[in-house]
Amino acid sequence: MRTATNMRLSMRTLLIAALLPLSLPLAALEGHDDYKLLKLDGYKLKWGEPELGVGARVSYAFADETLRFEDARNCRDLTPIQALSEQGIPNEMLKRETTAAFALWERAAGLSFHRVRDARDADIIIGAQGSPRGRAFANVSYQSEPEAGAGRVRTIEQAQVCLNPERQWKVGFDGDTDVYDIRYTLIHEIGHAIGLDHPGPTGQVMGFRYTEEFAELQAGDLEGVRRLYGDGSEDVLPPGGFDMQLASTGSNAHNANDLIGNSVISTGAGKEIGSINDFIIEEDGSIFAVVVGGSPLYGEERVALSWDSVELARDADKGGTVIRVDEPSLLPVPAEG
Ligand SMILES: [Zn+2]
Repeated sequence: MRTATNMRLSMRTLLIAALLPLSLPLAALEGHDDYKLLKLDGYKLKWGEPELGVGARVSYAFADETLRFEDARNCRDLTPIQALSEQGIPNEMLKRETTAAFALWERAAGLSFHRVRDARDADIIIGAQGSPRGRAFANVSYQSEPEAGAGRVRTIEQAQVCLNPERQWKVGFDGDTDVYDIRYTLIHEIGHAIGLDHPGPTGQVMGFRYTEEFAELQAGDLEGVRRLYGDGSEDVLPPGGFDMQLASTGSNAHNANDLIGNSVISTGAGKEIGSINDFIIEEDGSIFAVVVGGSPLYGEERVALSWDSVELARDADKGGTVIRVDEPSLLPVPAEG
């Protein structure tokens, strides 16, 4: 796991302009290209391998405490996103809209996003602005250490997305472009956070002018993100599977890779149900269920247990993890592949 503060030393930072209100004068800025890749110091920026067209796995989190990014010109102070609940966006709604915004980019290209609980472990951190101005900004910093053969592409180290908690926000379009739709704004700012710039004022989600003409990615947005990450037809998971941090019910942290192969004990029956051989992951990256194979109790090849019904505990004696389930709720196991 990364300790964010240490790595910040070797990073360069980039300011990205906010999504502008429609009323600003924008003479002589009519765009011609349909997309534009973000560039800093002549480098194109992307997550994962510093090679165009190669997919990436990116984590994100919401700021749950005040975080300061000394090198950032934008989003220098991030405060807990809960501040937006005072502007008409309850926390649960914000999380739903954020999931939808990430999902749009995920479906479009070789990108996969998953949410982590601790913002200090996240690639993209979303929060409220500590010093409110404008509507929303993104800040991107890249690794200045050149990778072998990296050419003119550099790997993004971290990105912040910050929203003004003093502005009013809304969910959905209603024709009033003075109040921004939160999902559209997030789609746009996430676009910056994954390496896209403004191609011009309008016509694409990455256009810098806020409009309510479309709620989906446009042709240029798709072209741009696929240039960076491919079209998603190839598996973006690195060989060897995933390495996901799980939050346990207690203060212990568990790693998904460590749980594979562990036995699940039914508390009620006092018997082993089987051993974990897979996880069912939701679109937002959270775990929906564990898949247990070779169940002596149920006599089935594979059963799935809802994540909520499973209890994890450290076994101090053995140094391993004990996995118990009180009342197993069995779910259908999706087909493999
Ligand atoms: Zn922008």
